[in-house]
Amino acid sequence: MNCIHCDRSAHANCRFCGRAVCKDHIKTSPFILSIYKGEEGINKALVVADAVYCGICNPREQPVSLKELK
Ligand SMILES: [Zn+2]
Ligand SMILES: [Zn+2]
Repeated sequence: MNCIHCDRSAHANCRFCGRAVCKDHIKTSPFILSIYKGEEGINKALVVADAVYCGICNPREQPVSLKELK
């Protein structure tokens, strides 16, 4: 698979959308690994700070409110 930006061989895939990116065009973005319930029943998110990101797709930087999640 080739880089979505420059069509050279890619080194990684975007964690969010799966697009391939090379070393020059790789970007990083926080990625939520998992969500769990902490003390007092509050939902918490385990986040990777520098997951591979293609720079094209549009992941939300802030986790969406999870109030509906029981
Ligand atoms: Zn590239
Ligand atoms: Zn992407």
